[in-house]
Amino acid sequence: MSSSAVPDRARAVIVGGGIVGTSVAYHLTRLGWRDVVLLEQGSLSCGTTWHAAGLVGQLRSSSNLTRLIGYSVELYGRLEAETGQSTGWKRCGSVSVARTAERMVQLKRNASVANSYGIEAHVISREDAAARYPLMRTDDLVGAVWIPGDGKANPSDVTQALARGARAGGARLMEGVKVTGVRIGRGAVVGVETTAGPITTEILVNCAGMWARELGRMSGVTIPLHACEHMYIVTQPIAGVSSDLPVLRDPDGHIYVKEEVHGLLMGGFDPWAKPWGTESIPEGFSFQTLKEDWEKFEVLMTNALIRLPALETAEVRTFMNGPESFTPDNYFILGEAPEVRRYYVGAGFCSGGIAAAGGAGRALAEWIVEDRAPMDLWQADIRRFAPFHGDRRFLRERVSEIVGVHYNIAFPNRELKSGRDLRSSPLHGRLRERRASFGAKMGWERANWFAPEGVAPEPVYSFGRQNWFPYSASEHRATREAVAVFDQTSFAKLRLEGPDAEAALQRLCANDVAVAPGRVVYTAMLNERGTFESDLTVTRLSADAYLIVTGSGQATRDADWIRRHLSADTRATLTDVTDVYAVLGVMGPRSRELLTRVSDVDLANAAFPFATSREIRIGPATALASRITYVGELGWELYVPVAHAAAVYDELDRAGRDLGLRDAGYYAMESLRMEKAYRAWGRDVTIDDTPWEAGLGFAVRLDKPAPFLGREALLAQRERRLTKRLLTFVLDDPAALPWGDEPILREGRVVGSVTSAAFGHTLERGVAMGYVREPGGVDEAYVRTGRFELDVAGDRVAARADLEAPYDPRARRVKS
Ligand SMILES: Cc1cc2nc3c(=O)[nH]c(=O)nc-3n(C[C@H](O)[C@H](O)[C@H](O)COP(=O)(O)OP(=O)(O)OC[C@H]3O[C@@H](n4cnc5c(N)ncnc54)[C@H](O)[C@@H]3O)c2cc1C
Repeated sequence: MSSSAVPDRARAVIVGGGIVGTSVAYHLTRLGWRDVVLLEQGSLSCGTTWHAAGLVGQLRSSSNLTRLIGYSVELYGRLEAETGQSTGWKRCGSVSVARTAERMVQLKRNASVANSYGIEAHVISREDAAARYPLMRTDDLVGAVWIPGDGKANPSDVTQALARGARAGGARLMEGVKVTGVRIGRGAVVGVETTAGPITTEILVNCAGMWARELGRMSGVTIPLHACEHMYIVTQPIAGVSSDLPVLRDPDGHIYVKEEVHGLLMGGFDPWAKPWGTESIPEGFSFQTLKEDWEKFEVLMTNALIRLPALETAEVRTFMNGPESFTPDNYFILGEAPEVRRYYVGAGFCSGGIAAAGGAGRALAEWIVEDRAPMDLWQADIRRFAPFHGDRRFLRERVSEIVGVHYNIAFPNRELKSGRDLRSSPLHGRLRERRASFGAKMGWERANWFAPEGVAPEPVYSFGRQNWFPYSASEHRATREAVAVFDQTSFAKLRLEGPDAEAALQRLCANDVAVAPGRVVYTAMLNERGTFESDLTVTRLSADAYLIVTGSGQATRDADWIRRHLSADTRATLTDVTDVYAVLGVMGPRSRELLTRVSDVDLANAAFPFATSREIRIGPATALASRITYVGELGWELYVPVAHAAAVYDELDRAGRDLGLRDAGYYAMESLRMEKAYRAWGRDVTIDDTPWEAGLGFAVRLDKPAPFLGREALLAQRERRLTKRLLTFVLDDPAALPWGDEPILREGRVVGSVTSAAFGHTLERGVAMGYVREPGGVDEAYVRTGRFELDVAGDRVAARADLEAPYDPRARRVKS
């Protein structure tokens, strides 16, 4: 172990010499950065990496996360030739089996998605599965999926190979040096303190594995992760086990199995895991394991014996129990921390760090070099969290559940049970009394649907119509035909105030926000590439104040984006006022009638046009009413001080009974917005998409006096044919139910995948949106002349494609 003096300065300092830190170092040098220092408190791979099982499965929930792992596979395959250090990489393929029909639906969906991402995947019979894995019992199986390109690697060897490659590229990797602090000046990294002296640097990369949370906390950076115990056994050689044996996953039995020196390595994710190291991780924890826990392992062992009878007589040579860090949502954490400029994080790999490290390390290195995310990685972006996610008690409770989620059937709308009730609307108690079934988003408890008397307000999951379907349908219809009230309090709300507020927002927004007070503007916020950083509404409150309303999950991200574009001499202050106002969405053709009954203002079209906002009085409350909608009907969003929210709700409730007023939840909002093709940020619009591609050109003002961020890129793209566009789809078969991610086919060929989907209760069909790509251009003729289908769990369902929304509320008709 070398611990010579650290250099005085470096262009970038990486903390942690696990597979992730070494991958970042390797890729920074590949991008031409030589002056990179990696500091490891122990020895390379001594944290979690050394005891990983080494499975590399490629399929993830988004195309970009899958692409990251696809790159890992490619990298691990060539690293040995490049560096001379073996990696143990073997492309042995994987077999995932289904014990139930519902699991088989999931596997079929996975296979369809894999194929659309360019990963070869085959749905196979249990007989074929038996042929590929002769040791396996298959008589109780429904079927399986075979992915030939999956494989396995030796985690320590991959780390050493990456380290060797990084050194060859000029990086200094120093073992036995601990980072003890990060120096921050004017909100940005200026250096690090280490046990071997300080280093001046402008870039810090926290790849400290399960130590990352504490290291972040020292600098006020929230990194919500927590370690859990993860166990596997390795047997002595078993007859019939060769190194060519594929990796086996039996998620219904919570287990995975891989060949290891002609024996079997068997581990898994049992439903409730054991958190570890809540208070702190013991000093000097290096190449260490945790105590064997056969009792905890029993559920995995029992299931393994069902699947692999040969284990009955096999001799166990190793019981491995090692800690690994998990995040609140099972996705890893990547990107620049919103709290400190040029403080980057790559941690919380949730038992997938070996598979992800190649791609994640490259993405993070590109992020650092270019000072922007290389592609849409929102699912892994550190800005999806808020400070409350760093609470230890919450993390401890949540990760106990999240580990098992790995092998749960990935039913749509699945809600977690732990770590709930972090944030509640002032209407929460009333909605509970109304039998709301709640879901969680950004810590908020939100009503998804309302159960009638006699029906438990609990979801029953499936890939078909879930139990809430008829109740949500009636909320949907009430909104289209009468009036409904939605509790939209979880909206993130930011107030930008000061003499320069207008100028700052004009630069950030693609639409013209230099409007009169009382106007509401729907706009994109773009980056210099002309792709979406956000889409939101901006309401001008006065000459020097704006209310910015954005999605619940985007609060941290959007505030960060705005703040980083306010220079030190911008005279404007951004304040998060999310928790100050409740939001009641009063939506539907009879909303005007209802609000007229309870308020003191003229709500007629001429007096209160669309996209305007003004204060109105409702009972004792003064609410800001904005005529805007996400459901495609006449409606107002009421921004009510939290203290008055319940009174306003009660007033509406009393006055609306004979108008057919209903409480409505987020599932109804989803089906309503899908019929009107309102885009959702993070799914239908991301940093991979421009407004032209997304069909949102109407909200871009290229001709406004002040140039805005992304304008040049949009001008350039306007000159070219669009090779990618968002289309809407209505499925022909009313029984088919898309949930999102389904491949889109044109003339039998995959041309894209679904970004959002729902059942449209007005159209009485499944509706979807998704981007299609065609090098020759996607235009009206391409859409009109093509035969489109969606692949719903392996079944091809014909769909009508359009560039417009399928439902037109003004005409109050369905487009045909
Ligand atoms: C039993 C088990 C089986 C697994 N199986 C698989 C698998 O099959 N496939 C898969 O993809 N993943 C698997 N994983 C997960 C995988 O091992 C991890 O995701 C991965 O190793 C994480 O790598 P890392 O670099 O983030 O963390 P680590 O390897 O823990 O590296 C972090 C490093 O940072 C150092 N450090 C911390 N603080 C400081 C400081 N202040 N100063 C200097 N250095 C510091 C630590 O010493 C440590 O070496 C498994 C995990 C376990 C526990």
